[in-house]
Formats: sequence, structure tokens, C-alpha cells
Amino acid sequence: MPKFTVLIIEDEKNIQTFMGKVLKRHEYRVLCADTGTQGLEIIRSQCPDIILLDLGLPDMDGGRIIQEVRTWTSTPIIVISARTAEHEKVSSLDLGADDYITKPFGTSELLARIRASLRHSNRLHTDSALYIRPYRHGEMTLDFSKRLLTIKDAVIHLTPIEYKIVAYLAQNSGKVITYASILSNVWGPYADSDNKILRVNMANIRRKIEEDPAQPKYIFTEVGVGYRMVEDEDE
Ligand code: CA
Repeated sequence: MPKFTVLIIEDEKNIQTFMGKVLKRHEYRVLCADTGTQGLEIIRSQCPDIILLDLGLPDMDGGRIIQEVRTWTSTPIIVISARTAEHEKVSSLDLGADDYITKPFGTSELLARIRASLRHSNRLHTDSALYIRPYRHGEMTLDFSKRLLTIKDAVIHLTPIEYKIVAYLAQNSGKVITYASILSNVWGPYADSDNKILRVNMANIRRKIEEDPAQPKYIFTEVGVGYRMVEDEDE
């Protein structure tokens, strides 16, 4: 199996070193850049499979790198973000980043984000629209071909809108999906930008699928950004 190549663009040496060690230990090939200019050069010359990007770089804003890279490739980009910067997270996703990870983060979280983004980009290239294998996590199964959601083998009855929301999140499981992206995907391009209708539907979904809707196990809220469905267990 050829290794996946990860490019880390990060000027803080301790974070760069930490991530590099973790990834090498988990069989990734690792490239590092301390500046945006160097990062862009490596992306052009080495074509990494995934990019981890710090937004605050000495020579340029990370957002510019996302914009630049997205003019010619869909290589997944995960932004490394500060805890409170919700606005920064949303704008990075709007520019074309695939996900973000919030500092300080642990090893398992870093690996899960990378896995989800790689799997998603791989699926875009290989899965036909006709066949998408079911989503599974714990006791939940979502069969896309039958439009059937079951938990512990019991069928969960969802409205068509609720189904669309859950299916969209499940197809992107492990990744954060912004409110705006869900609204336009489910209600269409002229969807109201007000999140209220989405919050109401999500409350109903949680009542149906979560044992304790206040402590969700399947769909998590990313405050100020969107929702993230727990990662698919299948490989
Ligand atoms: Ca920095």
C-alpha cells in the first residue's frame, strides 16, 4: 500500500513536530512547510494527498492559500484553528477548506479528521451515484438505497426533510458541515439563510435518534459553525 502524503503548513515548530511524529507513527509520509510560500511550492511540486494548514503564517494569511489551491485542485485541506475563532472556521470552509481542527487537539482527533477527509475525497472519485454503501455507527444503520434509518433494528420514521439532513451529514460523516451548506443542500439554493428551520428539524431528529438529545451520540453541534455526524465505522 503506497503511503498517503500529508503536508503540514505551520510556523509553530512544536505543533509541526508533534503532528509530524504522530503521522509518521501512523504510516503517513510527512512534508513540512514553515511559510505559505514554501507550502504552495510543495503543493505544486509534490501533490500531497492532504494539507494541514495553520491560518496565521508569517508571510501570508492561510485563507489566501485555500483560495489559491482551490483554483486548481480539490486536495483536502484541514485548517488548524484557534478555539474561539468560529468566524474564521466558517470563512475557511466557505473558501473551500474541508474541515478544521481546534488547538489544542489530541492524537486521535487529528487522525480521525484526516481519515474522514481522505475517505470523503476518495469516495468522490470512486463511488458512483447509484451505489453508496450504508452508513454504520454503533447501533445505527442508514441504508441510502432504501432511504431507511434503523437503530437496534428498529425503523426510525423521519420526515423527507429530516431524512435529507441526516443523509447529507452521514455521507459526510466525520466532517463538519456548515449551516449554510446544509440549508442549500436540503432546501435548495434559495433557502432562507435563517438557521431556525434547521435547528427545529435537528431538535426533532435528535428526539428520534438520540437516547438523550442533550448529550447526542450521533450528531454533534459545532457551535457557531454547523453539525458533525460521528464517523462511519466501516472501511
Ligand atoms: Ca501560526
